[in-house]
Amino acid sequence: MYNFYSDTQTRPSRAMREAILDAPVGDERHDEDPTTLALCERVADLLGMEAAVFLPSGTMCNEIAIAVHCRPGDEVVCDRVAHVIYAEGGAPAALAGVMMHPLDGPRGMPSLDQVAAALRRPSSFAPRSRLWIAEQTVNLGGGAVWPVERLGEMAAAAARAGLATHLDGARLMNAVVASGVEARRHAAGYDSAWIAFTKGLGCPVGAVLAGSRDFIRDAWVLKRRWGGAMRQTGVLTAMCLYALDHNVDRLADDHRLARRIGAALGDNPLIGAVLPVDTNIVIADLAPPAPDAPALAARLAELGARVIPVGPRRLRIVTHMDVDDAAADALIDAFARLADETG
Ligand SMILES: *Cc1c(COP(=O)(O)O)cnc(C)c1O
Repeated sequence: MYNFYSDTQTRPSRAMREAILDAPVGDERHDEDPTTLALCERVADLLGMEAAVFLPSGTMCNEIAIAVHCRPGDEVVCDRVAHVIYAEGGAPAALAGVMMHPLDGPRGMPSLDQVAAALRRPSSFAPRSRLWIAEQTVNLGGGAVWPVERLGEMAAAAARAGLATHLDGARLMNAVVASGVEARRHAAGYDSAWIAFTKGLGCPVGAVLAGSRDFIRDAWVLKRRWGGAMRQTGVLTAMCLYALDHNVDRLADDHRLARRIGAALGDNPLIGAVLPVDTNIVIADLAPPAPDAPALAARLAELGARVIPVGPRRLRIVTHMDVDDAAADALIDAFARLADETG
């Protein structure tokens, strides 16, 4: 099976597993795991932040950040396609007690005017506008990369209005490689930011959330409270350090492969439109002769290629280190065969 379902489906390589063997470990909740401390220091530095904390998932990074920045009843401003809205089980409401104020930005990237219009005037009637969240890259925007200047302008405008700012950097390193702009410049102006190790970087577990020393101290309280404090996490963070050393530059290969797939699908009669391919995600809207996205995905799976429907007539295809040009050929051929069948 050629797996284009998600970049989360990579398997840790032998070299990545071997990185664990000699990693020094200790109890992370007493700051005694040298490998985890080294990873946190490295990610804090990468993102231009004072401190960082290792967490089991990106979802926990987002939800801890929301709960630290907000009080119950506050309002969070972000795009409608944000992961915090569609894929975190309603956690902003369930865990932090906040309201979401979704915006409709092109490819998940709202304008300054859209954010300005969403901000509420302070009053005892209205919820308090409290947090702006941006996603870099925008997953359901087709892996869209915010130009770094715009990302910073959004943070500055939100901060001027008294909001805290948070950057969901699940695929920030894809944006770094695609833009050639270092990670700390993407995160500049944001109060908190995180990167995932389980997406394009190819690790089995882990994400690191960064911010000010005070922010991370508060984040640690929730990490413990919500059961995210672990023990000898050096066995996990050794793989994350390995990924930072070996798996960042190669993201360019994933981007090249995604562009190739996007271009080929643009010529397939089953596809009406392909969103611009900035990084490792291809989002394709189906043309009238095609069946619905779930049916097409099922047929593709029968032909050996796994993709994910992300709307009734929308498919997402993700490239990563476990798919190559031969896999892309198989995927493109499968689409061509289905187009012939549909005739
Ligand atoms: C995957 C993802 C997350 C959540 O990360 P998990 O480790 O799966 O919890 C958050 N935001 C975005 C944009 C993602 O793609």
